Amino acid sequence: MTQPYPQSHPIDRERSLLNRVVSPLLLFLCPPFVLLVWYTLRHLEGSLLKLIDFVARLGWAGTWRRIFAPVWLGDRVAWTSIAVFAAFQLLFMIALPGRWVEGPPAPSGAVPRYKANGVPAFLATLCLYVLASSWGVGLFPASIVYDHFGAFLGALNLSALLLCALLYVKGRWFPSSADAGSSGSLLFDYYWGMELYPRIGPWDIKMFTNCRFGMMAWPIIVLSCAGAQQARTGSLSVAMQVALVLQLAYIFKFFLWEDGYLRTMDIMHDRAGFYICWGCLVWLPCVYTASTFYLVEHAPQMPGAVGAALVLTGLFAIAINYLADRQKQRFRASQGHCKVWGKTPKTIVAHYRSGDGREHRNLLLASGWWGISRHFHYVPEWIAAFCWTVPVGFRVALPHFYTIFLFILLTHRAARDDARCQSKYGDAWKQYRRMVPYRIMPGVY
Ligand code: NDP
Repeated sequence: MTQPYPQSHPIDRERSLLNRVVSPLLLFLCPPFVLLVWYTLRHLEGSLLKLIDFVARLGWAGTWRRIFAPVWLGDRVAWTSIAVFAAFQLLFMIALPGRWVEGPPAPSGAVPRYKANGVPAFLATLCLYVLASSWGVGLFPASIVYDHFGAFLGALNLSALLLCALLYVKGRWFPSSADAGSSGSLLFDYYWGMELYPRIGPWDIKMFTNCRFGMMAWPIIVLSCAGAQQARTGSLSVAMQVALVLQLAYIFKFFLWEDGYLRTMDIMHDRAGFYICWGCLVWLPCVYTASTFYLVEHAPQMPGAVGAALVLTGLFAIAINYLADRQKQRFRASQGHCKVWGKTPKTIVAHYRSGDGREHRNLLLASGWWGISRHFHYVPEWIAAFCWTVPVGFRVALPHFYTIFLFILLTHRAARDDARCQSKYGDAWKQYRRMVPYRIMPGVY
C-alpha cells in the first residue's frame, strides 16, 4: 500500500487548489470533447458556429444520438486495429535493437533504464502501414483510420480510461518502485496518477503510452488522412503535402531524440494517470492531427512556392528545436566538457537531494540556446506546428486548435518547469534566472 506524498516533494504543488478544481472538470469534459472535435471537423466543415446551431436544434438527446451514440463504444475495425497496433508496439519495444540508456535518478534514488530503439520502431511502423495498405497487399485501405476516426476515438477513450483505472489500482496496491504515492483524494490520484515509473514485466508504461502509442499513432493518422485525400481526389494537395512532410519530419526528430525525452517533465515529473496517459493516448491523436484531418476535404488552393517556403521554414524550426534539445543532452552527458557554439559553456553547478536522502549534482547550461532564454526551444517547436497548420487557411478556427493549445501548453509548461527546478535546485536556479532572465522569448516573456 502506498504512502501519502512526502510534504517536501515537488509533486505536492500539483495538488494546488486550482488543480483540485480543474482536474475533475478536465476528467469529465475532455473525453466527450475529442468526439465533438472529430464530428465538427468531419461533418460540420470545422465550423464551431455550425456545431452550436446543431446542438441548439437537436437538444442534448438528439446530439447524443447523432454524435456520441454511434461511436463511443468504437467499432470492430477500430478495436481490432488498436489491438494490433498496440501489440506491434509492445513487441517492437523489446525486440528491436537499441542501446540501453539510463534515465535521471528518480526522487527515490532509483535509476530507470530504457531500450532506445525509437527510430527502428518508427521506420518499421511506417513501412508496415504503407506496405499493408498498398495496392499489391491491400490488407486495408490507407484511409482506414480517417474513415473510422470517430469509432477510433471512442475505442481509445474507453481503453485509456480503463488503463488509468488499472494504473490507479496498480499504483495503490502494487507499485513498481518507491516512486509512488497518494494525494489522499481518489479523484486526484486517478487524474494525476500515483506512480512515476510504473512497469509491467519488461515494459515501461509511460514510455509505451507517450512514445510508442501516442507519438507513433500520430504519423499513422496523418498518413491515413493523406490516403483519404488521394482516394477522394486522385492526388495530394500542396497543403496536404506540406502538412505530411513537416509532421513526419517532426515525429522522426522526436524518435531520433527519444532518449532525451526520457529526461523531460513528462517522464521525470508527471505521474502515470489520466493527465499524461489519457493525454497521449486520446488527446494527442485527436488534437495534434486536427488540421490534417480537416485538410482531407477542405484543402485550399496553395501555390507551390508558398508550400515550399512553409516546408523550408518548418524544417529549419524542427532542426533548431532538435539542436537545442541535443545541446543540453550533450552538455549533461559530457559533464560540461564540451564546446557550445565553439566556446567553453557557462556552467552552473546545482545540488539537490533525492527522497532517499542522497545528495546529487547536476550541471545547468547558461550558454548556446539555453543562454538565449530558459526555454527558447519552445519557439521553434511552435513555429513548426504553425507551418503545418496554417495551410488549412482561415475560414474556420477549429483546425487551428492545436497551435492555440500548444501556445498555452508551452507557456504554462515553462512556468511549471521553472517552479520545479526552483524547488529542486534552490539558489543555483536563482543564479541561472539572473544570468538568463527570460522564460521563452527574450524581451517579451
Ligand atoms: P525541457 O527540454 O525544457 O527540459 C526541462 C528539464 O531540463 C528541466 O526540468 C531540467 O531537468 C533540465 N534543464 C532545464 N534547464 C536546463 C539547463 N539550462 N541546463 C541543463 N538542464 C536544464 O523539457 P520539455 O519536456 O518541456 O521539452 C522537451 C521537448 O519536447 C522540447 O523539444 C519541447 O519543445 C517538446 N515539447 C513538445 C510538446 C508538444 O506537445 N508538442 C509539449 C512539451 C514539450 P533536470 O531535473 O534534469 O535538471
